[in-house]
Order: sequence, then structure tokens, then C-alpha cells
Amino acid sequence: MEALIRQLKEHIDEENIIANADMAEHTTFKCGGKADLLVIPQSYDELKHTLLTVADSGRDYYILGNGSNILVKDGGYRGIIIKTMYALQGIYVDYEEAQMFVQSGVLLSTAARTAAQNMLSGMEFAAGIPGSVGGAAYMNAGAYDGEMKNIITNVRLISRDGRHEYTYTVDEMQYGYRRSVLYNSGDIVVSIMLQLKQDDPHEVFARMEELAARRSDKQPLEFPSAGSFFKRPEGHFAGKLIEEAGLRGLTVGGAQVSEKHCGFVINKGGATASDIIMLMHLVQASVKEQFGVDLEPEVRIIGEDPEGQQ
Ligand SMILES: Cc1cc2nc3c(=O)[nH]c(=O)nc-3n(C[C@H](O)[C@H](O)[C@H](O)COP(=O)(O)OP(=O)(O)OC[C@H]3O[C@@H](n4cnc5c(N)ncnc54)[C@H](O)[C@@H]3O)c2cc1C
Repeated sequence: MEALIRQLKEHIDEENIIANADMAEHTTFKCGGKADLLVIPQSYDELKHTLLTVADSGRDYYILGNGSNILVKDGGYRGIIIKTMYALQGIYVDYEEAQMFVQSGVLLSTAARTAAQNMLSGMEFAAGIPGSVGGAAYMNAGAYDGEMKNIITNVRLISRDGRHEYTYTVDEMQYGYRRSVLYNSGDIVVSIMLQLKQDDPHEVFARMEELAARRSDKQPLEFPSAGSFFKRPEGHFAGKLIEEAGLRGLTVGGAQVSEKHCGFVINKGGATASDIIMLMHLVQASVKEQFGVDLEPEVRIIGEDPEGQQ
């Protein structure tokens, strides 16, 4: 690891190369283990250098956006986590063409607000999703009948080893429900091009406010979480199945099935990743037993179990 750190330091400030990094500080669940190394490149060149160096090292590495859909197990991540957000913060708006170019580190909320300020609509659905544009483009984030795939026209990518840069059309991204071709390739979103519509900014802001009110009404935003914990199983809603299974408020340690929205698992205070995972298993088993439905986590779970636990 020391040789790798030395190579990274040739291009990246020491303060952005963090050994034994506490991932609770970088995820919205606010819990979990430590990563052997966290690298936070501050420019595209730094990101590229990081990818090239880390890929050459042969060690495992993982791409992190805003950490709003990730749980790192308590045993930590044996490898390098690359937090891409700060490297890619550009936005360019073309009002005449109703297009917006957004780099992947920009928060969805910032991108949605910028669209509205520039009299463009189409991003209202995304304003309350606490992820980065890169994470959203990777997994086709969506809400309130909107999905990233409906507004993306193309995506600029860099290969996982940092060696190739290329552009995919929205069709080439092979988007499905919380899915894209990147699930297989592991390549990294650098920027996206969006096709929006010209609109009255008062109306765009009003729609955003209405959706924000619906969100805070229904969702336990006052507690750390990663949003809806499970994917929507075909023909069902995860939250409804969990509620009907009688699991509202079910608690393991500091983790709880939210009383406000059964689709959310929240960190009520002091939850460990193991609490959350045990709760997940209990919910999955109960829903399977009562309704015969398999609930699959939407949250990405990475890292190792703590010693003595599997
Ligand atoms: C309160 C709350 C509400 C939420 N509501 C919604 C909702 O309504 N709809 C919804 O879809 N999601 C929702 N989420 C989940 C989450 O915000 C989204 O999935 C978001 O798109 C994740 O983005 P991120 O940048 O945080 O990604 P991360 O959590 O950092 O990463 C998620 C995945 O994306 C990959 N990734 C991240 N950046 C890149 C990149 N640049 N290139 C390639 N891969 C990348 C990671 O490797 C990882 O596999 C919610 C979460 C919370 C906490």
C-alpha cells in the first residue's frame, strides 16, 4: 500500500489520500466500517491518474458518488474507495436548445435548481434525491414517474482502468429499473447531456416544492438512511409488503424499519452496518414467508463482515 500511496501523491494532495477512512463520514447511513484507503481527486486529471494508478496496483477499488445508496459493512473495505464527486463539478446550460451538460459530481438537487433557474423543466423529479448526477446516471435514479433515462441523451464515460474515454447514447446505456450497462462494465460516468424543456421557472419551482413537501410528508428524512432499502418487486411495492407483514418499527440495535415509511430502513442512532443487515434479513425472511416475494436490496452493500461474524 505504501508504494501505491507514494505514486498517488505525485498528483494528489496528501490531505485527499486518507488511510483507514471512516466511511460513516461519507455515507448517508452514517455508519459502517473503514476503507483501507479513500482517495478524493479534485480534478478530472487527478481522477484519471487515480484510476490508472489504482488499476495498475491490482488492488480492489470502488467508486463512490455521494454515498446515498451504499452501506459499508462493519469489517470495512479491503481496498481503495475513490470518491469522484469533487473532481467533476461543471454545469453548462444551453437555454435555446433546452439542453444541459452536467458533470457527474454535481448533486442532483443543484442540477435541478440550475435547470429551474434557467427556465428549463424536466429535472423536478430528481430535486429531492440526495445523490450525485454520476450515481443517478449509473443506476437510473427515479421518483414520482420521472427517471434519469427519460432526460439523458448521452453519457460521457471513462473506463474503470482510466485508459479509455468514450460516449454512450441513452440506448447504449441499456437502462432499466435501477439498472444500466455500467453494472457489468464498472466504467465511470464523467458527465451527462440532458434534454429538457423550456418552461416558466415559477411553475418549475412550484412543482419542485410540491414534490419536496410530498417527500418530507412521507419519508423519514430526519434520520440517516439510504432511501428505499429494497427494489420494487414486480407487481408489488416493497414498503406495502413490509407494512402488511407487520414489520413497521421492527428494530435491531440502532436500525429500524421506519414507522413513517416501511420501505426505509433508518439509523435511529448508533446503528451498526451489522444491525442494518440483520434487520434486512429478518424483513426478507418474513416477507418471503408471508407473501412468497423475494425482496432484493437496492442499497449496495460492500466490504467485509467483522471478524467472527458472517
Ligand atoms: C433520503 C433518501 C431518499 C432517496 N430517494 C431516492 C429516490 O427517490 N429515487 C432514487 O432512485 N434513489 C433515491 N435515493 C437513493 C440515492 O440517493 C440514489 O440512488 C442516488 O442516485 C445515488 O447517488 P450517489 O451519488 O449517492 O451514489 P453512491 O451511493 O455513492 O453510489 C451508488 C452506486 O453508484 C455508483 N456510482 C456513483 N458515482 C458513480 C459514477 N460517477 N460513475 C459510475 N458509477 C457511480 C457507485 O459505485 C455505486 O454502485 C434516496 C436516498 C436517500 C438517502
